[in-house]
Amino acid sequence: MPATLEPTETALPTLSNDEIARYSRHLILPEVGMEGQQKLKAAKVLCVGTGGLGAPMALYLAAAGIGTIGLVDFDVVDESNLQRQIIHSQSTVGKLKVDSAEIMLKGLNKNVNIIKHNTMLTSANALEIFKDYDVIADGTDNFQTRYLVNDACVLTGKPNAYGSIFRFEGQASVFATEEGPCYRCLYPEPPPPGLVPSCAEGGVLGILPGLVGVIQATEVIKLILGIGEPLIGRLLLVDALGMNFRTLKLRKNPDCPACGTHEIKELIDYDQFCGIAPPAAVGPLEVSSHGNVDASANVIDGIPQVTVEELKARFDNGTAPFVLDVREPHEYAIVNLGVPQIPVGSLPDRINEIPVAKDAEIITQCKSGARSQKAALALKAAGFTNVKNLAGGITAWADRIDPSLPKY
Ligand SMILES: [Zn+2]
Repeated sequence: MPATLEPTETALPTLSNDEIARYSRHLILPEVGMEGQQKLKAAKVLCVGTGGLGAPMALYLAAAGIGTIGLVDFDVVDESNLQRQIIHSQSTVGKLKVDSAEIMLKGLNKNVNIIKHNTMLTSANALEIFKDYDVIADGTDNFQTRYLVNDACVLTGKPNAYGSIFRFEGQASVFATEEGPCYRCLYPEPPPPGLVPSCAEGGVLGILPGLVGVIQATEVIKLILGIGEPLIGRLLLVDALGMNFRTLKLRKNPDCPACGTHEIKELIDYDQFCGIAPPAAVGPLEVSSHGNVDASANVIDGIPQVTVEELKARFDNGTAPFVLDVREPHEYAIVNLGVPQIPVGSLPDRINEIPVAKDAEIITQCKSGARSQKAALALKAAGFTNVKNLAGGITAWADRIDPSLPKY
C-alpha cells in the first residue's frame, strides 16, 4: 500500500466481511458509516451491574458492535430477576450473573470481547477497573455504588451514562464529562438511609429498566460516535404510567467536591457516606442496610433478633407473643403468617392500634427482616420496651419452616 494512503490518526480496527454484513444497517447511515462502526469496535464500555438496567444496555451494546464490554457483578441469577433482567434466563438460574450474561452476549454477537469482573465494585478496585474503559454505564440500584461510580468517573475522567429506576419512574443522564455536571452536582447528599426503598422493597415494573437501559445504551453509542446531543447537563425523567418524558436542565456546581473544587482526590468510604454499615451476605448491587451488629450477632442496634425456628417453637407451644407484620397490604395478600399488619411507613401514626401493653413482648416481621428492624426501632422509640425482630422475615420462614409458602 502506498504510504500516502495510510491512516494518519490512530488506526481503527478493520471490519471483516462478516462484520460488514452484520452491521450493514449502521454502515449505510452517514452518521455512523465505516469509521463509526470501527470506533464502536475499538470502544471499551463498562457496565456496572448486570441487573435490570445492565441487561438491556449490554445486549444492545453487543448487538451494535461495541468491541469490548466489561461486566461488573458478583451476584448469582435468581428466579425473581427474570421479570426484567432479560440477559439472564431460566437455564442460568443459580449461575454467576457475569457468566450468565456472557452466554447471552456471546450468543448474540460472537465478535464481542467480554471481560468479566466477578467482584463487588469498591473504593479499593474501582479506579483500577475503570482505567481500561472509555465509557462507564451505571446500572446500579443503591446510593453507595452510585456515588462510588460517580467519583471514580470524575477521578478517571470517564463519562458516566447514568440510569436509575423505581416502580414506574426512571432517570437518565450523562455525568462526569469535562463540561457537564456530575451526580454529586445534582445530589450533593445521599438520602437518609432507609428513606428511599430499594426495588427489592418497593418493586419495579419489569419493562421500565428496559426503557431506561436502552436510553443509557443510546447515550453510550452517541458518546463513542461523537454524534447528536448527549444528555450532558440534562436529566431525563421517564414516567411509564403517564408515558411522559421530561428533561430538566442541570448545572455544574462550582462547589461540587468532586468535579468543582476537586476536594475529593481519592475514593472514600461510601457506606459511611451514605450512613449505612457495610453489606453482609447480600447481593453486591442490591445492598440493604444493616445496623451495628454486636458480638453475639443476636442483637442489632439494641433489638434482639429472633430466628424463624424460635418463633415456630413459640407458636407450637402456645407462648408466641404479639407478632406484627409491617409489610404493605399487597405483599400481605401474596403470603402472610396470619398475624396483624401495619405497614412500617404508617406505624408512627398508628401506634395506638398496637393492642398490647408497653412492656409486653412484641416481634416485628417483614419480608427479609430489614423493614421490621426499622419498625422495631420505631416501636422502641414510642416507648415499647420488649420489641424483637424476626431475622430473615417471611422469606426465611418459607425457606426453613414452611416450604409450601410462596416467595416473592
Ligand atoms: Zn459535580
